[in-house]
Amino acid sequence: MRRLQATLERIDRKGYGAYKDLQGSYDLNEFTLFIDKVQRDPFAPPSLVRVRTENNRFDPPLFGNPVRRVAFEDFLTRAVEKALRWAVKGNRVSGGSGRIEIQRTSQVVLPRTSVVVADGYVEARMAVGLPARGRTVDARAARVMLLEELPQVVREALTPAGVDVEESRAHVEVVEDACHLRRRLPELGLVAFVADGAVLPRESGASDKPLRNGAVPFRSPKEYRVTVGLPNRGEVFGMGIPEGVTLVAGGGFHGKSTLLSALAWGVYDHTPGDGRELVVTRTDAVKIRAEDGRSVAGVDISGMIGDLPGGRSTENFSTPNASGSTSQAANIAEALEIGTPLLLVDEDTSATNFMIRDERMRELVRKEPISPFIDLVRPLRDSLGVSTVVVVGGVGDYLDVADQVLLMEDYEPHDATRRAREVREEFPARIPSSAGAVRQPKGRRVRASSIDLRRGKRETARGKGLHAIELGRERVDLSYLEQLAEAGQTEAIARIIGEFAAGKGSRGVGEVVNRALGSVSKNGLDSLGGFRGHPGELSLPRPQEVAAAINRIRSLVAQTS
Ligand code: ADP
Ligand code: MG
Repeated sequence: MRRLQATLERIDRKGYGAYKDLQGSYDLNEFTLFIDKVQRDPFAPPSLVRVRTENNRFDPPLFGNPVRRVAFEDFLTRAVEKALRWAVKGNRVSGGSGRIEIQRTSQVVLPRTSVVVADGYVEARMAVGLPARGRTVDARAARVMLLEELPQVVREALTPAGVDVEESRAHVEVVEDACHLRRRLPELGLVAFVADGAVLPRESGASDKPLRNGAVPFRSPKEYRVTVGLPNRGEVFGMGIPEGVTLVAGGGFHGKSTLLSALAWGVYDHTPGDGRELVVTRTDAVKIRAEDGRSVAGVDISGMIGDLPGGRSTENFSTPNASGSTSQAANIAEALEIGTPLLLVDEDTSATNFMIRDERMRELVRKEPISPFIDLVRPLRDSLGVSTVVVVGGVGDYLDVADQVLLMEDYEPHDATRRAREVREEFPARIPSSAGAVRQPKGRRVRASSIDLRRGKRETARGKGLHAIELGRERVDLSYLEQLAEAGQTEAIARIIGEFAAGKGSRGVGEVVNRALGSVSKNGLDSLGGFRGHPGELSLPRPQEVAAAINRIRSLVAQTS
């Protein structure tokens, strides 16, 4: 501690660069402070520090298995977030200086680099905006931050005396239950489960927090009610969505998209209080949408789309500017390529001509390469074993292809499968178009050298918030990846792609993704950090989102193999 104080005294009022002398580790009695990386000036990205407690006095069952450990680390990250809000005065003069931050969390629980719970210690990684006075070192303020505020945060968030132990146990148990439930879905023949009492609607279109006022809690129709025993909570009841083709129908504004969106997020565990703690979906489910304007590199969409104008093949389809329907077809082909048991499709975000084509239009338009989705859902299920949950309020023809029909009324689902059968008998069935034989698309090999990381004199592969990554001079737009939960995932994806791009040759998309995530699961997320010490703010992405990001690189050269 004295060494830290002495250094601070020595560099006070010197040029900001003198902060570099702080780099190193310090024994501060209750914990060790590692100052891993010092910013160059007050306006540069903040300095990176870690605090590591002397030992880990938390009750071992809180982190006794991998799922619990991740949940407990998530809990502690949120605890640090809260403690920082209390302890740090912040906003001390110029730039972002004077702030201390930990990686931001979302509504979901993910493996992150923010907190490490080891058997012998607990460590939190933070970013510190070292305080400046003009462009000089403000040692007094720095002293307060490092020697008063940080210790307070350690006491309040990283020791059993400071945290609410009951709350932490509940947190861990909720996550463990959700994981258990999700793992059991295949053996139950289900693609998703929505517990009775779940709160699905969100605060607003811009917030993932639960709607507070007037939310109608979920209630399963009796036809789909299943009971599942959970390790902590015991028996829960809810709606089990069986494998197959499920149609969600209903009038406008009756909660269809809200249900589908909850299912899309059900691939992740949620933090207690979210409302969707027990809404779980098969891990690899993919929300599919139209995304006109995206680039497509060498994707085999021939199972869905026949030859394009000019005799262009669709076995190896590339375009810098996909249309609504071709982008949606490419999104499906890519999801099948990386592997998925469940597609989630919402009419609100689909291309109309991809969803349906009626007989009149088929009569008028003879040159139509696209097999509409309505003719694909059965073959997808019957020959590839891929289930679909599709929201359709406007096209009754979908009744012909559904195994089960849910009708949303006033935010409550009802089973309308029987009624749908009667309606089908009353109205003549649509004649299916000669659907292309849906096949597993051919896998592609992507060329590492087509991703150029150079940007001026440096090489970059980094996340830019939640929705974009920067690879050299290219900005890859991820705004339409609806199952990307937080910026830490985006950053991790950028680094994975960066590593691939630094190599040579061509590799299968699945191979790139699975190798990288395999190594992460073996060596931890920290292994994506560039150097020993603070690895940056990373969260674990799914294979689907890593592949999706690769697929959206505009310069990507890929070839079906
Ligand atoms: P649809 O897709 O059927 O048109 P949405 O799912 O978009 O309807 O929902 C319409 C509105 O109702 C949204 O503002 C949504 O937040 C709200 N909503 C959805 N489900 C519920 C619910 N269970 N309780 C209260 N409000 C809800
Ligand atoms: Mg809708």
